[in-house]
This record gives sequence, C-alpha cells and structure tokens, in this order.
Amino acid sequence: MTPDVRDRTDRPASLGRRPADGCPIPEASWDRALRLIGRHDEVALACHVNPDGDALGSMLAVAFVLRSMGKRVVASFGDRHFAVPRLLGFLPGQEMLVPPEEYPAAPELMIVFDCSTFERVGLLGANAASAREVIVVDHHPSNTGFGTLDLIDANAAATAMLAEQLVYRLGGRLDRDIAICLYAGLVTDTGSFRYSSTTPAVHQMAARLVATGLRTDEIARELWDRSPFGYLKVLAHALERVTLEGGLVWTYVSRVDRAAYGLPYSELEGIIDIVRRADEAEVAVVLKEDDHGDWQVSTRSKGTVDVAAVCAALGGGGHHNAAGYTSYETVEETMAKFRRELRRVS
Ligand code: 5GP
Ligand code: MN
Repeated sequence: MTPDVRDRTDRPASLGRRPADGCPIPEASWDRALRLIGRHDEVALACHVNPDGDALGSMLAVAFVLRSMGKRVVASFGDRHFAVPRLLGFLPGQEMLVPPEEYPAAPELMIVFDCSTFERVGLLGANAASAREVIVVDHHPSNTGFGTLDLIDANAAATAMLAEQLVYRLGGRLDRDIAICLYAGLVTDTGSFRYSSTTPAVHQMAARLVATGLRTDEIARELWDRSPFGYLKVLAHALERVTLEGGLVWTYVSRVDRAAYGLPYSELEGIIDIVRRADEAEVAVVLKEDDHGDWQVSTRSKGTVDVAAVCAALGGGGHHNAAGYTSYETVEETMAKFRRELRRVS
C-alpha cells in the first residue's frame, strides 16, 4: 500500500502545523507555491552543481509529481560538463534531465533545490536571473533566500524533507520512484541516519518511504559500497600524504592522481568520511581538484567548530558540521587561508 494524500494517517506531522507551532515555513508560503505551480503548464527545475543525493533526489521527486499533474517538466543542474555522478545513476526519472544548454533561457517558473547560495545554481544562474518566478527549496541555515518565494527550513535534515511535503501538498502519491529519490536525499544528508540532524521526523519519513517497497540494501550499496578499482589507488595516495596539525587533519587529491586511474571527480565524495575518522582532529579537510583545475574544498567538524562560518568567509557555505567552497589557488595557499580563517572562527 502506498501512502496517498487522501488517506493521510501517515502524513508528516508537520503538514498540519502552523508557524506558531515551530514550523519555520509559513503556510502562506506553501499556499503561494501551490498557486504558482497551479497556474504554470511548464515548470523548470534545477539543483546545485555537482549534485549529491539530496539535490538530485529532491528535484527528481518533485519532477515526477509535476509530470503526473500533466505539467511539462525540465530538470537540470548547471555544470560545465553535464553528467549525473555515477553513484546517483540508479535514481529513476533521469529521462527528465536536460543539459544546461537546452534549458529555457527565461523560465516563467523555476524551482531550485538544495542551493544554499545563488552561486550554487552554477550555469543555470543566468536562467534563474531571467526567470519570472523562482521558488527556492532548501535547508541550509546560511541560505538567506534568493528566490521570489523561499521555502527554506534550516531545521530540516535534508531538502528531501521539504520535497516530500511539496509532493503531498501537490496531491501527489508517494510511489516507489518518488520514494527512492527522496530516500536517496534523506540518507545522503543524514549520513545514513548517523548525523545529529537525525530526528524522529527523519525516521518517520524513512518509514513512509520504505513502506513503498524500496530496497534500502540496494540503495545503500549504490551510494556507499561500490567504487571503481582506481578509487582504492587514489585513496591510497590521499592517505599517504594525510597531515595532522593540531586539531586539523587534511589531505588533497589532484587531477593528476585521478588521471592515472581514469577516476572521475565525482568518485571522491567519500574520502572526507575516511579522513575525518582521526580521533585527534576536530576539523577535517579534503581538497579535490576538479577537471578545470579548481579545488573543491570539503570540510567537516565534530561539533565545536562552525566550518560553515569558515567556508562562508572563503566564498562558500554549508552546515555547521559540513561545509565547502571553491579555491582557485594552490594547495599551499588554500590551506594557509583556511588555517587563518579557522583560527579566527575557533
Ligand atoms: P561536500 O563536502 O559534501 O561537498 O559539501 C558539504 C556541505 O557543504 C554541503 O551541504 C554543501 O551544500 C556545502 N557546500 C559544499 N561546497 C559548497 C560551495 O562551494 N558553496 C556553498 N555555499 N556550499 C557548499
Ligand atoms: Mn541537502
């Protein structure tokens, strides 16, 4: 049995809540979103560049329900080299994706998922700037809102939690395809229900999703338990040069490292989870050189240091315990600036 908006014994508790009850998105904002969507036949969806499970999963889940409502839907993300990361290849609905160059130049209605800043929209930023209406659906505390309508809940563990609400509010059915997309978002952003963001509401949502019959074992394997062989070699290089400086543990992966084993950039996501294991460190950093020679900096904190504040000062953002930014300098210069900001914040 799949949950449905019309027999809602299992709908999210937050659905019936008013702002006064602690739900930070006012009912009036949801109502406005439904009206905007209701009066547009075509809806353009976008998520952040180099999408993770929460970004792509949230976008595709909403794409499914909009399509089932008879809307024309385009969905994309603004990367220069448009490709779905291998580990998200199992997500259904990818036939709705178009590369940025095929995206409407000035959409009447655009919905943007999991983007903490306008910059995270990447190449589609120009389209968003020309859109008549932009709905921002996000859960990053640093997001100050850059849409004509913002649906931002910094207490949500994942954008997928807001996407689920949108699915229900649009009258959609939680079928297995939608559930797989939302589950990918939920497990990605809670680190498989390990992070402090894992509230009862997270587990209740997971229960609704699992009830559709999705295979949690298969999804976990796709997301975390497989890699090309070259990953092991690249990881070995990264670990060989890992450095512990006081409470900071860090390393880097260059594109030369990756090229030697034909490893795509998107395969590097899990390295930070290994590096941050070091008990001696409070903060972990992995510098990942992308195909353009820019360094994507992943940072993690164990709780006392606000890495989002450090990253925001360096042009990025994120969450208190997980944040990032892009550096256009060398490894040495990047780390020198990072240490300086870290000292300032801690
Ligand atoms: P990751 O290290 O997994 O790429 O990113 C960790 C967190 O930092 C994510 O929540 C992501 O949204 C945020 N983040 C990563 N890179 C950037 C960036 O360049 N700019 C901003 N604003 N946030 C980022
Ligand atoms: Mn997210």
